[in-house]
Amino acid sequence: MIKNDGRATRRFFIKPTGVSPLNPLDSLNQEIIECRKCPRLVEWREEVARVKRKAHKDKEYWGKPVPGFGDPQARVLVVGLAPGAHGSNRTGRQFTGDASGGFLFPALHRAGFANQAEAESRSDDLILKDMYITASGRCAPPDNKPTPAELNTCQPYLEREIQIIQPKVIVCLGKIAFDRILKIFALRNLKFSHGAVYSIHPSSLSFHPLSLLCSYHPSQQNTLTGKLTVEMFDDIWKKAKSLL
Ligand code: SF4
Repeated sequence: MIKNDGRATRRFFIKPTGVSPLNPLDSLNQEIIECRKCPRLVEWREEVARVKRKAHKDKEYWGKPVPGFGDPQARVLVVGLAPGAHGSNRTGRQFTGDASGGFLFPALHRAGFANQAEAESRSDDLILKDMYITASGRCAPPDNKPTPAELNTCQPYLEREIQIIQPKVIVCLGKIAFDRILKIFALRNLKFSHGAVYSIHPSSLSFHPLSLLCSYHPSQQNTLTGKLTVEMFDDIWKKAKSLL
């Protein structure tokens, strides 16, 4: 999908309507949801969904691969690690229902990328503007650690998202996401550091130059220790906007 010239002037929230069988992003997401390529992850995500956490005993878990979500015409693509066992593996939407999302979405709301700060379920009316959120791996891994082989197996889904969405800025949340993007674009000798920006030349995946922006992941491990503060995270989204 190539962006039209009018998209840069869009400054209102559009709620998606209907699903066209011809929409490549919807087709891709359907394919992702049905994926069972990684036996270890299939077993784990379904086991977690069956056993559940005490606090969510009465809720139905998603228990499937979690597709990306947001504005199909986004200029900013956010890439995370993988679903949390009781977060997006429960709710079925990226970063929704866990502490990482509780840090991320208020920041996106402050920056104007989200219409609200709350993200609790797929039916909470959250709408992203000019942003699409996805992940390096789509299935919840044990100990939050997908293996390199599992990430490699999942990588084509991320490549196809980039090809369809054609973002101008990719924000990598954490080093695993950063390394995955380097692998996809065959980039070497770039160092992950919070706030670093790199340029990516046009390629078969991206028809125009891209900016790659690094951020610490908003996991509790980073936010509770002060490694990633609210101010530092707000600066990331300001920087993302300045690169558009
Ligand atoms: S991690 Fe990706 S490739 Fe592996 S089963 Fe899940 S969706 Fe499929």
